[in-house]
Amino acid sequence: MLGGPSADRTSFLNALDVDLARDQASVAVVRVDLDRFSRIRQTFGPATARVVRSTLATRMDELAAGAGHVLRYGEDAFIAIVRVTDTTAEGLEAVAMGIVAAISAPILVDDQLEIAVGSNVGIAAAAHFDDSDPLRLLTGAELAIQRANAIGSRRGIVYEVVTRGDPTRLPQLFADMLSAIAAGQFQPVYQPLVSLPERTISGAEALVRWQHPLHGVLSPIEFIGEAERSGLIRDIDAQMREAACATFASMAAGGRLVVSVNLSAADLDAPDLAEQVQATLSGTGLRADRLVLEVTETALSQDWAGARRRLESLKELGVRLAVDDFGVGHMFLDRLSTGLFDILKIDRSLVIPEDDGSGRHAALLSAINSMAHTLGMDVVAEGVETDEQLDRVMAAGCTRAQGYLFAPPMSSEAFAALAASGAPL
Ligand code: C2E
Ligand code: CA
Ligand code: CA
Repeated sequence: MLGGPSADRTSFLNALDVDLARDQASVAVVRVDLDRFSRIRQTFGPATARVVRSTLATRMDELAAGAGHVLRYGEDAFIAIVRVTDTTAEGLEAVAMGIVAAISAPILVDDQLEIAVGSNVGIAAAAHFDDSDPLRLLTGAELAIQRANAIGSRRGIVYEVVTRGDPTRLPQLFADMLSAIAAGQFQPVYQPLVSLPERTISGAEALVRWQHPLHGVLSPIEFIGEAERSGLIRDIDAQMREAACATFASMAAGGRLVVSVNLSAADLDAPDLAEQVQATLSGTGLRADRLVLEVTETALSQDWAGARRRLESLKELGVRLAVDDFGVGHMFLDRLSTGLFDILKIDRSLVIPEDDGSGRHAALLSAINSMAHTLGMDVVAEGVETDEQLDRVMAAGCTRAQGYLFAPPMSSEAFAALAASGAPL
């Protein structure tokens, strides 16, 4: 298949490689971060946002060194290869400022709205690197933009030359993640889910960990944000699904265990998501009804019509869907009654609060349970840490739970051994 995000990135890196081989002295990579672009969608609506984005994409094409030299990076950023003649700090700064100015020229929408988009630009010139391979150059531009963004007002003309940017310094960097995906450094750990009241294992949730060669094991908090912005989360999530399905398909005595994997908003954007999931199920031999895909309400809030179509295709495969982190995102209660969701996972923040004597908290948990049960959903309490919390979620009607009280996330081997023992947790 052509044209997916990985294909785009690969062809971008190839183009960069070719340019470097041809004329290293004049090659520079810029990263452009648009100033609060999501506000444009919120304020003016998706149609206007599309016009603005495509105008900006055209401008980026004009600024870049040639066809195929611009990579869209999430909703609000671009990476581009540009040609520079003056590689002094002043010369490069002038290029960066020129890009900021070109991007922020007002855009006329429907002959009446004038919208100007501010930006930050980070630039790295091949001339500043001893060894200017594509990934190092990308990393240089990343380091530059991080510094630019850190300085503050994202409307800036801020720019920094980075020489000898060390790709390992900021592990969340695009370039580092890209090679980590290729090297298989993203691996799932599994946290057991238990049935209540028996506390026997009914399955597990796969949670990603980055086995970083220098920084050790990194938790999702450290890299998921950047992975989502860059779109690389799709590749990471696909690897998690692959690993989780393979592990559960081959688990001895595991035929009844169900595995949950997280989906991100970017996954829901992919028109071929259901085909990908089907291919993973066929490839690994896991029965569809043993896979649960978790999606947060926040992820559903970006393009509901599109997400709904994708989720419907997933349901047709026979996989089950869970609403994750229920109670902390934007609440769209009408979406719960679409019949798409089989499981409701109550966020930890609703599980923790101690009873203040008013009974209100217990009433809320019970109300969520009766709503979910009426709609035919199973309810999981997340992040259960104490016996007291367990008593409360059971009293409210939760039939499943997950949390440190039972078990932390663990390796696939440890999970398989625990599940095989059959003992309650
Ligand atoms: P989540 O999906 O809500 O996952 C549950 C998180 O709560 C996990 O953190 C888990 O380790 C943690 N947790 C479990 N039990 C307890 C408990 O009793 N107390 C406390 N305090 N925490 C508990 P983790 O693994 O750091 O993941 C954080 C978030 O990162 C996840 O939240 C999920 O939104 C995201 N994430 C993790 N793996 C993936 C993935 O493969 N793909 C995507 N798209 N997102 C992922
Ligand atoms: Ca989850
Ligand atoms: Ca959750």
